[in-house]
Amino acid sequence: MTVINTIVEDTTTTFTGWATTGALPLKQFSYHPRPLGSKDIEVEVTHCGICGSDISTLTGGWGALPGPCITGHEVVGTVVAAGPQSLHQNGSLVGVGGLVNSCGDCKDCNNGFQQLCAMKTFIFNDVYHDGSNAVPQGGFADRVRVSSEFAYKIPSEISPAEAAPLLCAGITTYTPLKHFGAGPGKRVGVMGIGGLGHLAIQWAAAFKADEVVAISTSDSKREEAKKLGATKFVNSRNEEERKATRHSLDILLVTSNDKDANWAELIDYVANHGTLVFLALPEVATVAVPPSALLMRHISIAGSLTGGREITQEMLEFAAEHNVRPWITTMPMSDANAAVKVTIEGRPRYRVVMETEAAARLQKH
Ligand SMILES: [Zn+2]
Ligand SMILES: [Zn+2]
Repeated sequence: MTVINTIVEDTTTTFTGWATTGALPLKQFSYHPRPLGSKDIEVEVTHCGICGSDISTLTGGWGALPGPCITGHEVVGTVVAAGPQSLHQNGSLVGVGGLVNSCGDCKDCNNGFQQLCAMKTFIFNDVYHDGSNAVPQGGFADRVRVSSEFAYKIPSEISPAEAAPLLCAGITTYTPLKHFGAGPGKRVGVMGIGGLGHLAIQWAAAFKADEVVAISTSDSKREEAKKLGATKFVNSRNEEERKATRHSLDILLVTSNDKDANWAELIDYVANHGTLVFLALPEVATVAVPPSALLMRHISIAGSLTGGREITQEMLEFAAEHNVRPWITTMPMSDANAAVKVTIEGRPRYRVVMETEAAARLQKH
């Protein structure tokens, strides 16, 4: 028997964005989105951040792509169409991150971990597991159409451009810090001060961790780390500074996806009973970890992937209340290749956010 996979798409509607099939440059690409479901919204994109995961996808670093892929998972825009059961109204400013669907009824979905659901769907390089096999595309585009359940209200205190990086870099760092109890009595380390790390430092400071230690190979980030709320800066190439921080961190977030990172050295920073948390996926299948370091000092290695629905909305409200904001450089989305180049070269301090023509039409919300 031949099984024919149905791909459901709305042939009356066309969205246009910047796509690759695994090699730069990005090229303009148009596609038909899935039909607007009863809970769906269509979002006119005003802003989209550029994350390391976008780069790893669109350069083929995580493997071949099955077809043209529009990346972008730090999406902010205005709702321009809404199904009858949508959670957001026309005209609302919303954000959409990497996660755009889940079954809604498994143990993880019921516990707010929709990102771990076996039926989860990412915003790009994925298909909907609802029988439709519809292919989602990301926010380097004029529009996206997604379930309103995976779109979040942007608090009025946060500008749309600044909101964008919170949808991935923000939630990716907020989730593990909450989960592993960053706060009074805990010493938190952040390895890598970039798009993710500069937000992780701000969250840990806002959670009132006893110490917030920024670890970087670049001394040029010493002063900026302190401005972000770090109580201490360690240049990992400075042996004295490194030794002074040995075995001291209860939680160490590894935000860099450096495939050549020295894992033994990183574990050396972690306190007895402490946890090292992977947040960014290196472009390698395995990393070498010395087991003796784990066994002799009861150290755990953990991973964390974005955040579920409830914690994402909570994170946005926490950012509004505690003045946590990404440091951004805005560039026009019409210049997407230039924006991607700047990101690949590691020049942004700390996030490039692309702006579409629709951004100019935004009323102050
Ligand atoms: Zn991301
Ligand atoms: Zn589920």
